Amino acid sequence: MTTRHIQNLIDGAWVGDPVKERRNPAADDDVVAVTPVSDPGVVEEAVTAARRAQPGWAVLPAPARGAILMNAADILRRRHGEVARDLVREEGKTLAEARGEVQRAIDVLRYFGSEGWRLGGQVLPSATPDTMVYTRREPLGVVGLITPWNFPIAIPAWKMAPALVSGNAVVIKPADVTPVALHHLVAALVEAGLPAGVLNVVHGPGRSVGEALVGDTRVSGVSFTGSTEVGMRIHHVVGARRGRVQLEMGGKNALVVLDDADAEAAARVAAVGGFGLTGQACTATSRVICTPGVRERFMAAIAEQAGRYRPGDGLGDGVLMGPVVTEQQLAADVAAVQKARADGAEIVAGGEEADGLLFPATVLDGVRPDSAAARDEIFGPVIAVLEAGDLDEAIDLVNDSRYGLTAGICTRSLSAAQHFAHSAQVGVVKVNRPTAGLDLNVPFGGTKDSSTNTFREQGPTAVEFYTWSKSVYLG
Ligand code: NAP
Repeated sequence: MTTRHIQNLIDGAWVGDPVKERRNPAADDDVVAVTPVSDPGVVEEAVTAARRAQPGWAVLPAPARGAILMNAADILRRRHGEVARDLVREEGKTLAEARGEVQRAIDVLRYFGSEGWRLGGQVLPSATPDTMVYTRREPLGVVGLITPWNFPIAIPAWKMAPALVSGNAVVIKPADVTPVALHHLVAALVEAGLPAGVLNVVHGPGRSVGEALVGDTRVSGVSFTGSTEVGMRIHHVVGARRGRVQLEMGGKNALVVLDDADAEAAARVAAVGGFGLTGQACTATSRVICTPGVRERFMAAIAEQAGRYRPGDGLGDGVLMGPVVTEQQLAADVAAVQKARADGAEIVAGGEEADGLLFPATVLDGVRPDSAAARDEIFGPVIAVLEAGDLDEAIDLVNDSRYGLTAGICTRSLSAAQHFAHSAQVGVVKVNRPTAGLDLNVPFGGTKDSSTNTFREQGPTAVEFYTWSKSVYLG
């Protein structure tokens, strides 16, 4: 297995001594990557380079900027298999999940590459005779991107691509534990012809490098995906200097299963959402709320599903669920299940016994709505099952959360589905579909402590965060 020696990208040059190892969560003797541990001075250099490069990039016609993203998509497509295998090794996805994520990054580059032909404003009527009024979208300037480990190529792609096509220069600080997938994306963009300084990458700890990027007053906007705790700090710092900030944070996503649902189908939906990606998705199904008539059938079906998701090395044949990403995440999963047990929940599948970083798909029954298992994000393959008397009580439980990212319902009733869709205080509602899994052309984001709930990521409005509107009167 190859060890990738990864460097920072500053002003078009690969720099920094790779010193920090990342090991495969499924095979501790496999050193996947070595990266630099940068200090805030490197962020300073990166922002300086980005500021220098940005005006030249912004005057390039948008279709020419988009063409570079298209070229990068082609390069990444040719390396699809290699990148997917590296992603399995560094993060612990299954090969199928990793292939899907790499394909998502390719599609995102294509989608925003073609956006270069569509970026534009509006032509508006003027009250003054013989005057034409139109709006243009102007880039913010230098934007800072801070990304998590759980989608280490797709999330950087869906931030970078709209930022770049709309004429910004970028400094990105990726998650410390997953540098390789991002490196493949960045290398493809460089090979595709991105000018020096337009994209800069700084590897290093969030506490120093991330904070330096957030605190640099030359950075006009920061787009962050990660935990609510870190997001709130960033909001405070960037908001204080009236910078633009976009935060995509945690979730405690619920799936409601009504009496009229097909219990086996609902259990499959819950398992894909809760155990797929090892439960390590912000959109993961972490609560299931059953009404009484379906509960027994659903519990039998979800226990059977949990048995199918036996954890293993994601490169292995037939493995449906990979390992947990780090020791730290494993400890959090174990502690959450122990606490649930102490709070009176019954473990009907899985439990807190792990084999290395292989943690079993776990189902908790009899979870009290006020307990930690019902309220806190776990970020592991753990589904907490609660009971509600009817649909309205279920909706109250869904909304009784600090989070508001996604929610789902399994039912055959169109009116119940619609009532639910209109009442759930979340950014995305899924009917008879897993709470996780998003289309790239559909705006994504949440409410409450899940998102800033102003600018949405993905889809046709994603460029709005990275641009501002200027009005021009032409006499
Ligand atoms: P995290 O600990 O908040 O880290 C996210 C990023 O922030 C990493 O690059 C991290 O760097 C950096 N960081 C850490 N402390 C920082 C600081 N003080 N200032 C600036 N940057 C800092 O989150 P994570 O554990 O990687 O990811 C899991 C979380 O992300 C979950 O809560 C999940 O729900 C959320 N998430 C949300 C979405 C969404 O779209 N809503 C999508 C995916 C994940 P280091 O890696 O060096 O610590």
